Amino acid sequence: MAGFAEECAVVGVYGCPNAANIAYYALFAMQHRGQEASGISSANAQKIHTIKNQGLVTSVFNQQNLAKLQGFAAVGHNRYSTAGDDSIFDAQPVFARYDLGEISVVHNGNLTNAKTLRSELIRNGAIFQSFLDTEILTHLIAKSKHQHLQERITDAVTQIEGAYCLLFLSRSKMFALRDPLGFRPLSLGTIHNRDGSIGYIVASETCAFDLVNATFEREVAPGEMLVFDGNKPPQSFMLAQQPLQYPCIFEYIYFARPDSTIFGRNVYHIRKAMGVELAKEKPIDADIVIPVPDSGIAAALGYAKQSQIPFELGIVRNHYVGRTFIEPTQQIRELKVRLKLNPIREIIAGKRLVVIDDSIVRGTTSKQIVQILRDAGAKEIHMRISSPPTAHSCYYGVDTPNEQELISSKMNLDEICHYIEADSLAYLSIEGLRKSLACGKEEQFCQACFDGQYPI
Ligand code: 5GP
Ligand code: MG
Repeated sequence: MAGFAEECAVVGVYGCPNAANIAYYALFAMQHRGQEASGISSANAQKIHTIKNQGLVTSVFNQQNLAKLQGFAAVGHNRYSTAGDDSIFDAQPVFARYDLGEISVVHNGNLTNAKTLRSELIRNGAIFQSFLDTEILTHLIAKSKHQHLQERITDAVTQIEGAYCLLFLSRSKMFALRDPLGFRPLSLGTIHNRDGSIGYIVASETCAFDLVNATFEREVAPGEMLVFDGNKPPQSFMLAQQPLQYPCIFEYIYFARPDSTIFGRNVYHIRKAMGVELAKEKPIDADIVIPVPDSGIAAALGYAKQSQIPFELGIVRNHYVGRTFIEPTQQIRELKVRLKLNPIREIIAGKRLVVIDDSIVRGTTSKQIVQILRDAGAKEIHMRISSPPTAHSCYYGVDTPNEQELISSKMNLDEICHYIEADSLAYLSIEGLRKSLACGKEEQFCQACFDGQYPI
């Protein structure tokens, strides 16, 4: 089976008396990055204890089972996936016993050479419980001839390619790594313990720091490994350095929370700037600007500000429905859009609308939105998308499906507009997107989903 798309959340806590509790709240803050499964491993020098299951953070954990996760260090994970096995084996952390003791691993990203590594390991007698790329790492570490875990991790990591933020927990240490091209975000923060000592937290998004009162220190650098051991501040090792980095531009467009700082920029500001650029590039005469909640809100505010067309919340979102994208069959996916989004007829009826969303992937959401807005009496519907057409699959961990399922790989602009039955449709250009990021010419992003230029 091909590697799963994994755009997950990871967290590591070290040097805190209640590490698992902090990891729990951090995972709760990062629930938007994955709702399929959740898990935490904690370490107390003697042993590693793991609890993981399918479902949301709040349904996997409760006071009783969190109390079992004792220790000063913990790693946690929220899993996102659209395809395949919902088996508990595909939840993380991945735990293993081996000659050096015990280890737990969490991973955000996708390894591009996972298939090759896995078949090689299997040919040599390894057995796997899951389809996770992550399990490959435990095997590489177990097989490494080096004496110490740190060397074995270094050894394992030189064999993998692709996008990864990895956290390894042993009974007494924690290791945090970010891939040399820096695809996925990972930040380091400090926590002031009640006894006056300093603890550390590493997380996919900084919104996790806010909830647990951690202070943002810096990003983990691409190619860097941080080693947490004893009372010392983390030691930094550069495992690999690349002249160019390719942070994922889709984090800004869709994935990250607006209150997070990703790759040095606040996500909300970037999204609003995308809306401003979109209004400059693709203006239209209309009565109101409305967002598709929640993903289109910040860009719609930018569009309204720039175009001077009033902003209205014309669609209300039911927050008790999971992300619709996750449903496997088309029929359920369509029903779920209606479960989640409902228009305010009194605002919509008789109006010419600019409707802002962050992206069109399969086209399901836009088509449904146009239909519910027409049913609510909209006079004209002009879809404006605050990113370029998503025409290429992602191999580094964002869940863009097979290329055949991406509407922009099959249809041109007019055809998509006709398919979703909008009066007009326009996307932000790649240049407009870069302008919103206020990046210099030399600054790179991975934007392969738009231009098909894959860094690996
Ligand atoms: P579509 O319905 O066209 O397949 O998907 C577009 C909608 O899904 C947009 O509203 C966008 O906010 C959201 N979306 C875009 N990319 C992703 C993703 O990777 N995961 C999830 N869950 N939603 C996405
Ligand atoms: Mg959306």
